[in-house]
Amino acid sequence: MEALKQKILSEGIVLSEQVLKVDAFLNHQIDPALMQQIGHEFATRYRDQGITKIVTLEASGIAPAVMAGLELGVPVIFARKYQSLTLKDDLLISKVFSFTKQTESTIAISARHLSAADHVLVIDDFLANGHAAKALIDLIGQAGASIAGLGIVIEKSFQEGRALLESQGYRVESLARVKSLVDGAVAFVE
Ligand code: 5GP
Repeated sequence: MEALKQKILSEGIVLSEQVLKVDAFLNHQIDPALMQQIGHEFATRYRDQGITKIVTLEASGIAPAVMAGLELGVPVIFARKYQSLTLKDDLLISKVFSFTKQTESTIAISARHLSAADHVLVIDDFLANGHAAKALIDLIGQAGASIAGLGIVIEKSFQEGRALLESQGYRVESLARVKSLVDGAVAFVE
């Protein structure tokens, strides 16, 4: 997606050869017009797949997921990372190792919102080693729902997430595929 790549080139900050900071438009300040385009692109790629729900992870997956949900006309569920007094129903729970924090945390969604009748699109901001995606897939599996595929805003193709997910048969659609972050420069696949 060309507009996203241009935004990454103009406003992304390479923190290391492993980490890209996109606080200017996705992870802290959000660019609504770009999010709308991102939602449209995900919807275009998955429109004919019979999606009934979108599942993402708080907080940074929410903006692109909501825009895709708006386009596809389906609800968006975000897995929560924190204990909440209001999240007392039957919980589906999984563990995720955070790439950016290097710690393990528990994520949960209420079983009330997902059922075996659902066909789910998983959306997240980044794909690195696939831990977040795997934890979301685990939660969806616990509900007995099926998975149409994943929609990733920024994939770091030099890490193993895509290979891991594809080896398990999942479709991965990434809107920007980063080949390397060497010498402070972002290089894209193709
Ligand atoms: P994974 O679980 O695939 O290893 O990493 C994906 C998760 O870690 C995403 O949900 C994202 O929040 C975070 N993440 C991974 N790599 C980066 C990165 O380079 N920059 C930012 N801002 N977040 C990242």
